[in-house]
Amino acid sequence: MRKSDVLIVGGGLIGCATAWYLAREGAKVTLLDSGDFGMGASGQNAGSLHFQLERRFLENGDALAEQAARIAALSRLAISDWSSLEADLATDLHITMNGGLMVAETAEECALLERKITRENAEGLQTRMIDGDEARQIAPYLSEAICAAGYSPDEGHADARLVTHAIAIAAAKDGTVLRPRCRVQSIEKAGRKYVISTAEEQFAASQILIACGAWTAHVAAMLNLHIPLFPVGLLMNATERVAQAVPHLVQHVGRRLSMKQTHSGNLLIGGGWPSRMALDAEGRFALYRPPAVIESSLRDNLRVAIDVAPMIATISLIRSWTGITAISADQLPIVGEIPAMPGCWVAGGGSAFTLGPTFARLIAQSMSGRKCGELEIVAPSRFSHLNSFMGQ
Ligand SMILES: Cc1cc2nc3c(=O)[nH]c(=O)nc-3n(C[C@H](O)[C@H](O)[C@H](O)COP(=O)(O)OP(=O)(O)OC[C@H]3O[C@@H](n4cnc5c(N)ncnc54)[C@H](O)[C@@H]3O)c2cc1C
Repeated sequence: MRKSDVLIVGGGLIGCATAWYLAREGAKVTLLDSGDFGMGASGQNAGSLHFQLERRFLENGDALAEQAARIAALSRLAISDWSSLEADLATDLHITMNGGLMVAETAEECALLERKITRENAEGLQTRMIDGDEARQIAPYLSEAICAAGYSPDEGHADARLVTHAIAIAAAKDGTVLRPRCRVQSIEKAGRKYVISTAEEQFAASQILIACGAWTAHVAAMLNLHIPLFPVGLLMNATERVAQAVPHLVQHVGRRLSMKQTHSGNLLIGGGWPSRMALDAEGRFALYRPPAVIESSLRDNLRVAIDVAPMIATISLIRSWTGITAISADQLPIVGEIPAMPGCWVAGGGSAFTLGPTFARLIAQSMSGRKCGELEIVAPSRFSHLNSFMGQ
């Protein structure tokens, strides 16, 4: 049996980065993934580094918006984590943080932006409201229909195909044992240790992290636990390469849109449009199969992009893809130690590309015994009632 200080199940951005931060502090870490590192949502996503409160938090009433605003404290940390990531890894990850605009087209959306920015500023985020003319001065590609925008000087994007892989390599250099293509089949609690079994090997450690994205609920079930993370299939689109014209991250406060231009010139267009997940023989969502593109999602996603930046209409779409991510029962991520199961940590849900390195750094810090209050807003304890009759 291979013994470590920490076993990490799931080699997405959260798992790889937690391994890296722990290994840098000298911990013995083993990281297992059923496929290759970064092949889940961490390698399929849009690469947006969005620090403004997301539209999905704003559309479900004031109570959720108020609660979600507290995530701005984590966004502030994420700004600093992303700013130093390339230097820390000594690798080019195509990170740009040239600023982001969350645009509005109607008076109602402008009012929503104003309320959002008040909440963000109260949490220490430096977003500001600008009118349509100032938005077009910063971003001349924006349509005349844009009447205001929330401007964040730090937003941007990174290449999702590079980031997780680079961090996995750094974790291995710092001593992490990497086990790709090793699907965890069972997790047992034996005294103070957790024993993880794959088809070929057994591993033991006193602390484990389950960071399995959309698969988290299945893996937590191995410990007879409920973790309310649900899979969702999303759509992304890429245009042909064009001359650099969109240096910002562009989002919309009232419609689903995220848009950016990659290092190589392609425009990536998404924003949370659904795709249709396949079902397995038992009628459950088949998480290892790519979801199907929903035609109306594709059409409506491009419609918003063209309304916001009319030049998109002149550029050819070359590719659409889908990916599966996880969303929690209350939309906020679930990150922390499970109260009923000391030593067992979970991390997943939400926009964990933007917040992934920060979650990882804070988990590593907490696992090493240095308590950090920043994770309280996302702690799994808020779902403890689901586990009153569960556990080992
Ligand atoms: C299309 C799309 C666009 C998105 N855009 C953005 C964005 O622009 N910005 C943003 O912040 N977020 C975005 N997200 C969300 C973001 O990608 C995810 O929140 C984040 O990548 C999750 O990382 P993770 O490490 O939690 O999980 P994942 O990257 O999904 O990794 C989980 C890993 O667990 C492994 N695993 C599962 N079961 C087992 C098992 N039994 N044994 C071993 N390993 C197992 C899987 O193989 C996988 O590699 C997007 C998601 C999608 C799908």
